[in-house]
Amino acid sequence: MNELLLSKRLACVAAQVKPGDRVADIGSDHAYLPVYLIKTKQINFAVAGEVIKGPFETAQRQVQKSQLQEQIMVRLADGLAAIKESDAIDTIVIAGMGGQLIASILENGWQNKQLKKTQRLVLQPNLDENEVRLWLSGHGFGITHEEIIEEKNKIYEVIVASPMQEAAYSEKELFFGPFLMTEKNPVFQKKWMHASHQKQNVLKRLQLAKNPRLEKIKELQKQLLWIKEVLQ
Ligand code: SAM
Repeated sequence: MNELLLSKRLACVAAQVKPGDRVADIGSDHAYLPVYLIKTKQINFAVAGEVIKGPFETAQRQVQKSQLQEQIMVRLADGLAAIKESDAIDTIVIAGMGGQLIASILENGWQNKQLKKTQRLVLQPNLDENEVRLWLSGHGFGITHEEIIEEKNKIYEVIVASPMQEAAYSEKELFFGPFLMTEKNPVFQKKWMHASHQKQNVLKRLQLAKNPRLEKIKELQKQLLWIKEVLQ
């Protein structure tokens, strides 16, 4: 992968950015995404935010090498603090992290009123996708699109959201993804077949334990039933 040839995962994220958007890529350790979007003329302006100094310097070097310092602002900052009001950002991308971390970055941004003007969130959690959906549904964001892809034996989901007045989801939709569970593509089926096997093994172990954790057992049984229903 490099700034002109993205991984399948990052290409899937890039495809969700609307042409001409002003983009903030939060957690931009190598700035590949903003450099790619500008080099391919999809956008003209981006912020690359990174909280750790080493990756921040890598992003800076990449932007300098690509001679895009006028169009990509690389900033050392925690989460959405990388964004200034004058950047007039429409789309925030947060990719390649756990769902809990993505939700906490969004929550901090929400508390600091940094999400007020956001038109679009493009989120790619590596796990705990339901945490991201839960945060979105609790903060007036509706899911407008979802993708699920496989790359090098790993499965990734991309969740796109926008502010929406009526955005209510069932527990099941938050768990599977409202669009993904309707589409049920082969990657989705593979993910949940695998998850079902894993959960069945955990359930067996829990049921054999001396002091079975009844709450956990009930939760797993519910999830296994959902998976069975969805994969039917
Ligand atoms: N977004 C890139 C991608 O999808 O390939 C990089 C993913 S990398 C695994 C995650 C990056 O997010 C790391 O460089 C990490 O330092 C950064 N990060 C984690 N928490 C952050 C935060 N609160 N604010 C900004 N960057 C953060």
